[in-house]
Amino acid sequence: MKNVILIAPPAAGKGTQAEILVNDFGYEHISMGDLLREVMASGSALGQEIKTLIDAGKLVDDELTFPLIKNKLQTIQGKPFISDGFPRTLNQAQHFETILKELNITDYVVILLNLSEEAALKRISGRLICSCGKSYNIYNDNLKPKQEGICDKCGQALVKRDDDNLTSFQQRYEIFQTNIEPILDFYRQRNKLQIVDVDRSVAEIAGSIKEIITHD
Ligand SMILES: [Zn+2]
Repeated sequence: MKNVILIAPPAAGKGTQAEILVNDFGYEHISMGDLLREVMASGSALGQEIKTLIDAGKLVDDELTFPLIKNKLQTIQGKPFISDGFPRTLNQAQHFETILKELNITDYVVILLNLSEEAALKRISGRLICSCGKSYNIYNDNLKPKQEGICDKCGQALVKRDDDNLTSFQQRYEIFQTNIEPILDFYRQRNKLQIVDVDRSVAEIAGSIKEIITHD
C-alpha cells in the first residue's frame, strides 16, 4: 500500500475518502489540526509555544510544525499513512520532501481530488442538514432524502447549513486554487501526482483511489 498525500478543494469529499482509506486499508490518518491539538495538550515547551501563538490569533510558523509531522511519521513506522491537509504551501511541500527522505520514505503518491468550481458550487448549494446530524444532498442520488425536504432517519424538516454561503465558498475555492498550483507542479515534476475526478459516486471515487494505492 502506497503512502498518500491527499489534496482536495472544499466540497470534494476528502473526509469521506480519508475515512475509507483508514477503515478499509488500515491507513494511519495524519492531520495537522490533530497534531497541533495533541502537542498543545501535552504541555511540552513546543506545545506551549504553539498554544501562545494560536491563543493570540497568530499563524503557527511552518518551522514549528515540521517536527510534529516528523515525530508522527516515526511513531507509526511501517504503517501506511495518509496526510490530510498537509502540505498547504510550497514551502511545506519542500520540507515534507526533506523529512520523507530523512526517514527513507519514497513510496508515496499525491492524490488530487479534482472537482471543478461549477461542480463544487452545485454540491454546496444542494446540501441539506437535519438537526439530528444527518446530512443530504439533493444533487446526489446516493445522498438525496427519500421524501423531499424530510429527514429519512427522524422525519424532521431539513434545512440549509449556515456556512453554505456561496460567496464565501467561492472565495475559499479560489484561494485553494491559487495556493495549490505550485504544490501540484512540485509533485508533477517528481512524477508523484495522480488526479482523481470526483464528480462521481463515492464508491467510484474509492475504486479509482484503490487502483492507485495498490498499483506497483
Ligand atoms: Zn434527522
